[in-house]
Amino acid sequence: MSETKDIITMAHGSGGQASHELMSRVFGKYFHNEILDALEDAAVLDMEAGKLAYSTDSFVVTPLFFKGGNIGKLCIAGTVNDLLMMGAEPKYLTCGFIIEEGFPIEDLDRIAATMAEEAAKAGVLIAAGDTKVVDGQGGLYINTSGIGIIPEGRAARAANMKKGDKIILSGNLGDHQACIYSARMGIENEIQSDCGVLKDITDALYGAGITPHTMRDVTRGGLGTILNELCKAAGCGMRIEESQIPVDDKVAGLAGILGLDPLYMANEGKMIAVVAEEDADKALEAMRQTEHGKNAAVIGTVTEDANVQLVTGLGGVRVLDVLYGEGLPRIC
Ligand code: MG
Repeated sequence: MSETKDIITMAHGSGGQASHELMSRVFGKYFHNEILDALEDAAVLDMEAGKLAYSTDSFVVTPLFFKGGNIGKLCIAGTVNDLLMMGAEPKYLTCGFIIEEGFPIEDLDRIAATMAEEAAKAGVLIAAGDTKVVDGQGGLYINTSGIGIIPEGRAARAANMKKGDKIILSGNLGDHQACIYSARMGIENEIQSDCGVLKDITDALYGAGITPHTMRDVTRGGLGTILNELCKAAGCGMRIEESQIPVDDKVAGLAGILGLDPLYMANEGKMIAVVAEEDADKALEAMRQTEHGKNAAVIGTVTEDANVQLVTGLGGVRVLDVLYGEGLPRIC
């Protein structure tokens, strides 16, 4: 019988024997669980009634492997983090792979192994999947969708922000974009992507008895853009202290050379939590106990203004707007 070749061929997307071989050789090896192993047309999920969070995202990052992660880590973290930001406990993911002919199976194996590892960390099961092969130049794209259950009493929504609430940022800005830029431009440095699942932070907050009014992961468009999105949705403003925003020296150095502003640089393992003023100290303390939140800082306050104002390092005040123009394409 034909042995599965070491690169992906059109046959792997045929639904026939090569597809089955790929399933058992790669995906079955890492993703197997009771639901997938049933080999049905759709996953049958046991869920308690109540509020669900449901999200989807597609990942087209290049390069596929970078310092601190790969597209597999990114696709699990990205979807899981979106569920976590709604106060949900992530439960199930689906994964759709679009693979270009010629893609090395060894790389697919490494990516699937990482996905399984991240899914386990996040406590989610991969409940359904799909693989398509298209002609091309050996590229890979992944779509992940996820479902989580929102426990009673949690309501992290933009609309719940109130004047006086404190805005806590979980850590240094710009690491992911700086890492991807460096890889693309062949710049040698130690900068690692921050890509990761933020469940340690949300668990720490809820565990400390804090109910954040709003949470949001700080991804494409950077902090400046997501703060504006939140304020627009909630009809409020914010006052942010630039001096309180943590940025790693290496990232600040690279950003300076390239003319980038860390406030608009993409992250894949950072979030903000907006909490009641009286909860801010406790929330900060809880976040700082976690791996992903060890550099957390209170960076500002919710106001009744109509915009996001930045108190600069020099004490001036300017309006912090959304990112205009094009950020770096294919960053996530
Ligand atoms: Mg998000």
